[in-house]
Amino acid sequence: MESMNIAETPPTERRRQALEAVRDLGKQRTDHALLKVKCPASHMVAAVYDTSAGHVVVCGTGPGGHGSRDRNANNRGGDSLDDKFVDTVEATQFEDDELPAGCGCGPRTISRKKLQDAVVSHAHVVTLT
Ligand SMILES: [Zn+2]
Repeated sequence: MESMNIAETPPTERRRQALEAVRDLGKQRTDHALLKVKCPASHMVAAVYDTSAGHVVVCGTGPGGHGSRDRNANNRGGDSLDDKFVDTVEATQFEDDELPAGCGCGPRTISRKKLQDAVVSHAHVVTLT
């Protein structure tokens, strides 16, 4: 796959490609995370992966989410991406810096800029305050 031109790719298309690239990493993707983002209670809030679409962030969406009962029925193996927010870490200048995320403690937001800085500085874990 040719690397994506973030500035010229519509966000919905970009997110679709990001999701596909994360799916391609397979079920053991967590082992290959460049960066893990945790809450003060050590829940995994998000993770960043190096994929064919570039650096992609997968955000948890917190307790409950939406329509959890239906989702659990369709969930093969507890590794579903259906209830996650998946996007490239990089976005256009016209988009919000804050990504929607969450963990067992509740909803949160994560700064794209903060993720980029952490990846550049080779941090492996970021703990949110
Ligand atoms: Zn938590």
